[in-house]
Amino acid sequence: MSSKTFVVDTSRSPFAKLRPVPIEDVHLQDSFWAPRLRKLQKVTLPTQHESCEETGRIANFRRAAGKEKTDFQGLYFNDSDVYKWVEAAAFSLASSPDQKLQNLAQEVIAHIVAAQDEDGYLNTYFTFERTKERWTNLRDMHELYCAGHLIQAAITYYRATGERSLLEAASRFADQIARVFGPDKRSGTSGHPEIEMPLTELYRVTDNRAYLDLAQFLVDNRGIGLIGGRSYHIDHKPFRELDEIVGHAVRSLYLNCGAADIFMERGDKTLWDALIRLWQSMTERKMYVTGSVGSRYEGEAFGIDYELPNVRAYAETCAAIANVMWNWRMLLISGETRFADVMELALYNGVLPGLSLDGERYFYVNPLADRGQHRRETWFRCACCPPNIARLLASLPGYMYSLSPEGLWVHLYAQSTSNLEVGGSPVGIRQLTDYPWNGDVELVLQPENDVSFSLCLRIPVWCRKAEVQVNDQELDKAIQAGEYLEIRRVWKPGDRVQLSMSMPVERLVNNPYVMENHDRVALRRGPIVYCAEGVDNPDHDVWSLILPIEAELRVEWKPDLLDGLMIIRGKTFVANSDRFEGSLYQPMEKAHPKSRREQFTAIPYYGWANREPSPMTVWIRSSTKYREA
Ligand SMILES: [Zn+2]
Repeated sequence: MSSKTFVVDTSRSPFAKLRPVPIEDVHLQDSFWAPRLRKLQKVTLPTQHESCEETGRIANFRRAAGKEKTDFQGLYFNDSDVYKWVEAAAFSLASSPDQKLQNLAQEVIAHIVAAQDEDGYLNTYFTFERTKERWTNLRDMHELYCAGHLIQAAITYYRATGERSLLEAASRFADQIARVFGPDKRSGTSGHPEIEMPLTELYRVTDNRAYLDLAQFLVDNRGIGLIGGRSYHIDHKPFRELDEIVGHAVRSLYLNCGAADIFMERGDKTLWDALIRLWQSMTERKMYVTGSVGSRYEGEAFGIDYELPNVRAYAETCAAIANVMWNWRMLLISGETRFADVMELALYNGVLPGLSLDGERYFYVNPLADRGQHRRETWFRCACCPPNIARLLASLPGYMYSLSPEGLWVHLYAQSTSNLEVGGSPVGIRQLTDYPWNGDVELVLQPENDVSFSLCLRIPVWCRKAEVQVNDQELDKAIQAGEYLEIRRVWKPGDRVQLSMSMPVERLVNNPYVMENHDRVALRRGPIVYCAEGVDNPDHDVWSLILPIEAELRVEWKPDLLDGLMIIRGKTFVANSDRFEGSLYQPMEKAHPKSRREQFTAIPYYGWANREPSPMTVWIRSSTKYREA
């Protein structure tokens, strides 16, 4: 094996605060993520491969290589789904070698490599009769987008297996692109950003600065009228002048990822300032309570400020994935908890609902309320989300820790063992915890020798009360939610750190400008956002719940429900909407709802729509007490 598998390799990035930890060195052993990663390898990836075959996505490569005489099948950017599948397989192989999966990936890679033109160009749509159309429509045809996914897959597969053929093909293609586009060559930029990330990563792998230059060239070429100037493509302004997050959500967030990657290498402060403005625009005015983004169906886009509908939430799974990827990069640059907080929120509540518990069905769109009609599907004609969720989840071990000159950073909590190199010394780290269901985390450190470094523990912003003990001694230091707690000392083999984060059920309310959620609450416990689903509430419609503010809410562990989860129960009013039978509107005095008190149950939002169809809502009506100021 030639190298280690990183999500983003900031090992030598001068403007990144944090260094990556290889996926191979982190072993999840928890009951939340580890079974999901196993299912991903054994069920999700094989079935996705079948779907790629059945829909002609892999046949398109055989056709381009002259091995099959068929028409091009599907959408013009379908190559990207195959690339994302390879990337997901590579990440999965990095944490858990599997010969069958590797053989399958190797076979797909052979088809990809065989489809490459002599000059390095590789896109199965623009072959034969469409060869002349290459690079003629950068705005709409996703050529640079597909190339980017190829490069990323190639880098990851190389890192995970040491196998170079895809990396060589991808580099040849990147070279071809660099021969066509550049300051003294053709100008242009991609209608669908993405390639900026992998080009920067390819620079990190190869040390070839031309790839980084090309990535920056593509960012710098936005907003100057080359691809039509629409906000949909984030082409309405130069990137450094952006002050509001707009446009197609996945495009927008991938572009931010690319800009963050370039910043890590070059440190151009105008890029960072723009990224911070965009992050504030998103998190303060345009993000769902679940960390999902891109609320608007029209253009799969960010809406205006506070436009966060529930039933008509678009909230594409890919946008939540991109949100995780962007916040990961912002975290690597800054070491600031606020980015890890959004990352964790989007991971558990924005990304995870995108995959069914059986590992075979997907959401593209993620409503926050539904009447029982919205269901996951096994595949899509535009299938960006399924392989995207696979590659993110497969790479999860790489998100748990980082290193810096100060020491070791713990971002995510999960039962696991890891063997890392900290302060120049091998250090074993064991996390003992039931997170995300319980906020107690014990870390046992096993440095080879006594070694001095800082252990930086993320105290999530949702945590109101945390206590820390080192070897049973209360830590003499103020603990602040929303910060990394730095514990600096000489660590000896067997040292134990006990972090205890209180995890009460919280009722969240929305900024009043979100009109949909007046007098509604969302339930959150630790990092998990809840919803009420009809299946658990057979005696009443969950859309009719009115949760009294004094209602006591208790949690209950259900080992057999939806692969094991913590539910929330309580007594609530149920509005009687009989008077509305057959009408939409009623005079208020007539409609005054009679309500009765009943038990209700809420489950983690990620688990909804895994049983028979029924209504669901995240935001629950709640009586609010008003007081005169
Ligand atoms: Zn998608």
